[in-house]
Amino acid sequence: MADRDGLIWYDGKMVPWRDATTHVLTHTLHYGMGVFEGVRAYQTDRGTAIFRLEDHTRRLFRSARILGMKIPYSQDQLNEAQKAAVRENHLKSAYMRPMCFYGSEGMGLRADNLEVHAIVAAWEWGAYLGAENMERGIRVKTSSFNRHHVNITMCKAKANGNYMNSMLALQEALSCGYDEALLLDTEGYVSEGSGENFFMIQDGVIYTPELTSALDGITRKTIFALAAEEGLEIREKRITRDEVYVADEAFFTGTAAEVTPIRELDRRPIGNGGRGPITEKLQTLYFDVVHGRTGRHDQWLTFV
Ligand code: PMP
Repeated sequence: MADRDGLIWYDGKMVPWRDATTHVLTHTLHYGMGVFEGVRAYQTDRGTAIFRLEDHTRRLFRSARILGMKIPYSQDQLNEAQKAAVRENHLKSAYMRPMCFYGSEGMGLRADNLEVHAIVAAWEWGAYLGAENMERGIRVKTSSFNRHHVNITMCKAKANGNYMNSMLALQEALSCGYDEALLLDTEGYVSEGSGENFFMIQDGVIYTPELTSALDGITRKTIFALAAEEGLEIREKRITRDEVYVADEAFFTGTAAEVTPIRELDRRPIGNGGRGPITEKLQTLYFDVVHGRTGRHDQWLTFV
C-alpha cells in the first residue's frame, strides 16, 4: 500500500505517495488517539463526485471535538484537500481516507506539546465485501467481542483506537469462515458490524438499533432519507440476536460496505437466505443516488 505512485495531501501539501511517512514515535501510533473518515467518490455522467463530503468532514471535526483534539485546518480546507486528492490522482472513483493524528513532539500520556497533523489519501477501491456478495449477501457471525461500552470509549467518535475492537471481531469472524462480524453491546443488544451499521426488516418494517454504542453512520442517514421517500417505515429500537434470526431480510450499511445484504447470521439463513426485495430496492436506490442517476439529492454530490 505504501509503495505506489500517486500523491497524498499531507499538512497542506501534495506529497509523493512513497514519501508520505511519519516518525515511529508518532503519538497516535502508540495510543490510538486520532480521528479519521472513510469517504467515497463515484463516477457520474457529470464527472467524479464525492458523496456527502461535507457530512463526512463535519463528522471528522466532531470526532476531534470528542477527543479534545484541535484540527489546525478549517472544514473548508479539508473539503478542498479531499477534492484535490481525487483530482490530482486522476481517479474516476475513489475511497478517501482523511486522518488527523498527533505528532512525535512528545511521548507518554502526559505529552502536551503535540502537533496535530492531517492527511488525505485517495485510491480506487471496489466493493468492500466482494462484488458477488452485493447480490448474494454475506455470512455474518455474532461476535464474542462486545461493542464498546459508551463510557469506556467514545463510540460517536470515529477514532483510530476504537478500531482495535472492530479488528478483533472481524478477525474472529473471518477465522471462523464468515465474511463479517455482528457486535452486540455490553447489554447484549445488536449494535453494529465491525465497520457498518445494521438494519433488518420484518413484515415490511425496517428496524435498526438506536445509536447508543454505534457510529452515527452517514450511509445509515442516507438509507433513512431514501426509505422515507419510498414510503418505507424505519424504526429505531433495541434488537436482540434472535430477532435477527427470524428477520425477513437484513443488511449492513457503510461508506466502504455501501448497502450489503446479509444472507446468514450464525449459520441461520435470514429470510430466504439471499438478498431480500426491500434490501434490493434500497441498494439500487443507493447506487443510483451516489452515481448521480436520480437527479434528486444533488446536494449530496461534490464534483471534484
Ligand atoms: N460503524 C462503524 C464502526 C464504522 O466504522 C462505519 C464506517 N465508517 C460505519 C458504522 C458506517 O458509517 P458510514 O456509513 O458513515 O461510513
